[in-house]
Amino acid sequence: MSVPRDERRFGESSPGSNPLERSPVDRIAIEHPTHCAAEVGWVADVVFRERFGLEIETVVGTSGRGICIRRGDRKLTLSAEFFENADRAWGSAETATEVQSGEWDVAAEGLGEGLLHRTVPIPFGRPGISIDECGDVAVRADLLGTIFFHLSRYEEFCRPDRDQHGRFPGKASYAARLGMLDRPLADELIEVLWNAMRRVWPDLRRPTSTGRVELSCDVDWLYDAAAMRPAAMIRRLGSLARSGDWGAAVEASRDLARRCAGGSRACPSRRGLERLMHDAERRDLRGVFNFIPTTTDPDRDGDNRPGDPAVATLLSEIHRRGHEIGVHPGYASAEHPDVIADGVATFRRRLAELGIEQGRLSSRQHFLRWCPHRTAAGLDAAGVDVDTTLGFADRPGFRCGTSHEFTMYDCVGRRPLRLRQRPLVAMEWSYLSPEHLAFEPGRRMATALCELRRRCLHYGGTFTLLWHNSMLFSPRLRSTLHAALDGVVP
Ligand SMILES: [Zn+2]
Repeated sequence: MSVPRDERRFGESSPGSNPLERSPVDRIAIEHPTHCAAEVGWVADVVFRERFGLEIETVVGTSGRGICIRRGDRKLTLSAEFFENADRAWGSAETATEVQSGEWDVAAEGLGEGLLHRTVPIPFGRPGISIDECGDVAVRADLLGTIFFHLSRYEEFCRPDRDQHGRFPGKASYAARLGMLDRPLADELIEVLWNAMRRVWPDLRRPTSTGRVELSCDVDWLYDAAAMRPAAMIRRLGSLARSGDWGAAVEASRDLARRCAGGSRACPSRRGLERLMHDAERRDLRGVFNFIPTTTDPDRDGDNRPGDPAVATLLSEIHRRGHEIGVHPGYASAEHPDVIADGVATFRRRLAELGIEQGRLSSRQHFLRWCPHRTAAGLDAAGVDVDTTLGFADRPGFRCGTSHEFTMYDCVGRRPLRLRQRPLVAMEWSYLSPEHLAFEPGRRMATALCELRRRCLHYGGTFTLLWHNSMLFSPRLRSTLHAALDGVVP
């Protein structure tokens, strides 16, 4: 597929240079006081090593108040107000409440290169920088503390807000309260930090970062739920007739007949899965298809298990076509690491029996249910390599402030995990559910999805889109999905 003009990768080199060329590894020293030493160490590792490709040497226990970055005989000092405060009462709600809600005009300070917006919100520390006569820079905003706040989901760890499924509501988040959940606020601050570093060390280089699109599907249902209940089927047929999708209406009627005659694999949800694979393949994308391994809640855990012979055939086909198969721990797993471990082990065994070998095992929680005290550590202990849960069910956007994959942090054990997070940016149901944004499929939804996609790619991240196989039953749904995948509003 040709790359539209808006997909020029962030960090791409100027014309004539090789965009894949990596800069030589550079080394910096980071000196910081003892407060929140583990947290500072983790966020420094994620930002400076994972994102900037720098080698870092850390010195803990300095007497100054800020975080000092040294390279050669020059230094950059950052405020550490968030960490100072959090260290006094780790996990308390007041430490997760922004101190300032001011905007910093980083463009006016000459720190706005590569950013899509002139200003960034500063919840901890104060806007502004100072430069001394030697060229050393001091940033008064707490950049690393705020990046930690976003990536670690510290506010969810501290605050009790939950919806009827026990999930932290997106609308209660700091970013949503600012009206900025559709901006990758951590990625923006990482760019500001990079620009500040380049102010001190103009010769610094970092690896180029290539954005991409990832289409994923949680295969909760393989049978059309409407076919289970005549009243639901009548509503479905009415909806399809109004949209003029007579072919789907005929298919749905056949599915009801098949269901009444004892069940069949040929149903709209199964065809939805086929469509998603086809849509991914047409665009040279590797789809990710997640399956619930064990039943943890009979009413909510869908209608298929990997042990079912028909599902086994399907898993083999998905793998043979080059897509990824992920585990989708059931509804009642989020608070129970033992249930996660059991599901993951069952899933691994099933894949091994089918001869399916994959390099990494990815996971996403069913219903996006996530306990900030237990789920990440549970997935880590179960040997999952990368989780892809962290988007909000009720709002699309940047739950972790980023669309980049990163190593996760356990706020309970106060330690980095081996588990990585590839955040979920958009789920179709967040737009379509009457309880959430209540959009109709069509132009408005496509425009919103394309803008999120543009922002992910601009910052070199991954536009991760979740589209369920059971949500492709009308032409408008299908054309909205295609618009999001192509970045072109019809
Ligand atoms: Zn699910």
